Amino acid sequence: NYHNSIQAFEKARQLIPGGVNSPVRAFKSVQADPIFIKKAKGARIWDIDDNEYLDFVASWGPLILGHAHDEIVEAVKEAATLGTSYGAPTLIETEMAELITAMVPSVQKVRMVNSGTEATMSALRLARGFTGRDLVVKFAGCYHGHADSFLIKAGSGAITLGLPDSPGVTKAAAQNTLTAEFNNLESVKKLFEERGHDIAAVILEPVAGNMGVVLPEPGFLKGLRELTEQYGSLLIFDEVITGFRLAPGGAQERFGIEPDLTTLGKIIGGGLPVGAYGGKAEIMNQLAPEGPVYQAGTLSGNPLAMAAGKVMLKTLKDNPKIYAGLERKATNLEAGLSANLDKKGIPGVINRIGSMMTLFFTQEKEVKSFDQAMKSDTARYASYFKKSLESGIYLAPSQFECLFVSDAHTDDDIQCII
Ligand code: PLP
Repeated sequence: NYHNSIQAFEKARQLIPGGVNSPVRAFKSVQADPIFIKKAKGARIWDIDDNEYLDFVASWGPLILGHAHDEIVEAVKEAATLGTSYGAPTLIETEMAELITAMVPSVQKVRMVNSGTEATMSALRLARGFTGRDLVVKFAGCYHGHADSFLIKAGSGAITLGLPDSPGVTKAAAQNTLTAEFNNLESVKKLFEERGHDIAAVILEPVAGNMGVVLPEPGFLKGLRELTEQYGSLLIFDEVITGFRLAPGGAQERFGIEPDLTTLGKIIGGGLPVGAYGGKAEIMNQLAPEGPVYQAGTLSGNPLAMAAGKVMLKTLKDNPKIYAGLERKATNLEAGLSANLDKKGIPGVINRIGSMMTLFFTQEKEVKSFDQAMKSDTARYASYFKKSLESGIYLAPSQFECLFVSDAHTDDDIQCII
């Protein structure tokens, strides 16, 4: 007897600790009533109260082609007949690996897992196994999933929950994690000067999507590449957000910098749970049984997920027009919003690269660091979020306006948001 979204939320809260999933929990952080989805297609969703929304959340996650993409639906139906037997691989996983290694420049070998968190955890374990070192450098505001060490000064959901320092992280995770400042190469150099030969890896979001969209300053990624090479540490790009989004080969293709390891998630599964990590063959060969680093996963590479991911990646690989369309729509969106802010005298900064765009309500002139991102006016955002929802526009309930355009958004949809 929970036939509307408010009742459904109450019921879910009784049964599912942690608030169902982060977006629903985040609804509370902006003091809005959550919606529960009944049906979705393209850029539209319908909730169980029969309201229709123009959706800008799914495209922030995996659905860069929109909801219920016909070919993905068909492929998943077909794959359901293949079973998901542990230890009995299907051809489809190898076909996925072929696509990933063809698309992502630095990835020669790739291992499937079930989420972005698993991908980043596994990549770090591999980096430690490969280098024989303990320490990992991460950046304040970069989010790499919900494993302990990643929550130290994390962005995204952890900020929403008011846990930027995550007091609950285990001692070992905290001791082995050093935190630097994004776009501040000097802060990383200092850590390397002090403890460089104990540092297994530097991990970062090459475009920091979890503190809004914060772009790497010119020279920052290259500087990290040189520093890690100098000290024999690995450079890991967490491309869970940027992968397949900024270019078929993600941020590393866009910026022309090749990391040692790459983690992937979101888009890679076409809406089903898939993560992956990959990189240079000599590093990936450390995985058992060839090497000492253990990796498993009952459902890793399962055909349902692989089928959805395969259609997604193949569609992106074979249709460069999609990227041109995303760029055009996102450029129009940025120009329209910027003109609107000026006209209304609302202070704000827009950061954008490709289809990734964030509007910060802030008095700052620019947002290039975690500290600047944290100064955005979340109360103003919350009020816009609620107003948008009431007028049928579903935005990411984050602490910024994250507007990631998808192939399913039409030019009219863009005008609607503006
Ligand atoms: N890394 C980045 C950059 C992410 O944005 C996320 C999730 O938002 C993760 C890792 C964790 O991925 P998942 O939520 O699939 O575990």
